[in-house]
Amino acid sequence: DDAPATSAEIAEQLPADTGAAELLERYQRSLTGVFGTPQAVLVRGSGARVWDAAGGEYLDLLGGIAVNALGHAHPAVCSVVSQQYATLGHISNLFTSPTQIALAEKLLSLAQAPPGSSVFFANSGSEANEAALKAVLRHRHSTAKPRILALEGSFHGRTTGALSLTHKPAYREPFGELVSGVEFLPFNDLGALETAFAQDDVAGVFLEPIQGEAGVLPLDEAYLTRARELTRRSGALLVLDEVQTGVGRTGEWFRFQTVDGVVPDLMTLAKGLGSGFPIGALICFGEQAGGLLQAGQHGTTFGGNPPATAAALATLQVIESESLLVHARQLGAHMAAALRALPQVAQVRQFGLHIGADLEPVHGVEAPAKEVVQRALDRGLIINATGPTTLRLAPPLNLTQEEADQALARLESALRSATADWPQPPGA
Ligand code: PMP
Repeated sequence: DDAPATSAEIAEQLPADTGAAELLERYQRSLTGVFGTPQAVLVRGSGARVWDAAGGEYLDLLGGIAVNALGHAHPAVCSVVSQQYATLGHISNLFTSPTQIALAEKLLSLAQAPPGSSVFFANSGSEANEAALKAVLRHRHSTAKPRILALEGSFHGRTTGALSLTHKPAYREPFGELVSGVEFLPFNDLGALETAFAQDDVAGVFLEPIQGEAGVLPLDEAYLTRARELTRRSGALLVLDEVQTGVGRTGEWFRFQTVDGVVPDLMTLAKGLGSGFPIGALICFGEQAGGLLQAGQHGTTFGGNPPATAAALATLQVIESESLLVHARQLGAHMAAALRALPQVAQVRQFGLHIGADLEPVHGVEAPAKEVVQRALDRGLIINATGPTTLRLAPPLNLTQEEADQALARLESALRSATADWPQPPGA
């Protein structure tokens, strides 16, 4: 006689044949339209699999968009979070608790941050970037260097400050004026970077070491190295947004660690950090960076709360104990080779389990990647499209090779069915 509480329980109360449609209809009536029409109503997840309200099973190779680092319902996370919530569920930031302290120490150690470094906990990637932007604004205010640089193709979030750093016009233009002084430089263009620093009036630079939403596009090592040299020389802050690349996604703890001599002043994390619990982090490298936001200058109610920090600690422990960095590199390479052999795939960019695959353009088809995503979904595979011809995969770091191969077989079937239906190029 208990009221249904979980998603699976709510769905089970509805008729098996019409429940999913009813839920979607209720969604349309009660939620804002910002996310468009959901692809499905999901009720349950376990490991790399999720199930919808109609009983359909999917292999989830998007992982909540690089969030479910350990897949769904990892036993270590389930157990620590329920125990943590049962013993200390939330405290205000007028207090602290051991999981918060231990997580900060662990992140600083994994990032090999120098003594004096510190962490601020937020609830999302956007919020971590808001904190980083406030640190840069504070620096701008005290140095009177007016310019803030970001890159074309960037994605740093949709809250107002983070949106000011996000390049895509469709996201920005409806809102008119945002934070002033932000300039977007062409991607990977060393000449433009040099020119931008010619006047020594830059307060900070925001870079994603690999642009995820733009289609898994890596910045060249030489670009990151030069950005570090120029920012250091001119006293500008280098902010690396590792919201998508951090915490093992690329087969390293953090992507910046693959480039010799590049250590940021500020780094932002979120996504995979909490295995799905909302948590973001701003890592301040060194005392000067950590001193940019002082008592009373920033804050949040939920940031770093006990269940979220416990989930993150458990996530990092499992990545270590199950050697998932090595696994991500090996399985990623295996998947990239298999992807390159699929019909219609032109190019694959793979860094651990951060994978982008470009399709050949199709004459007369505007967004082939979107069609492939739909056909994959129909075959029980979740991936997404970051552009008209680009597919993105961000599976759990503990995906097995068997699951990967099964997923790739579903993708191959989706690609074959799409290419069979697409018009042949003229003259073929
Ligand atoms: N930065 C990057 C690089 C991201 O990929 C994202 C999310 N796609 C964000 C920031 C924003 O994170 P959130 O959605 O958690 O606010």
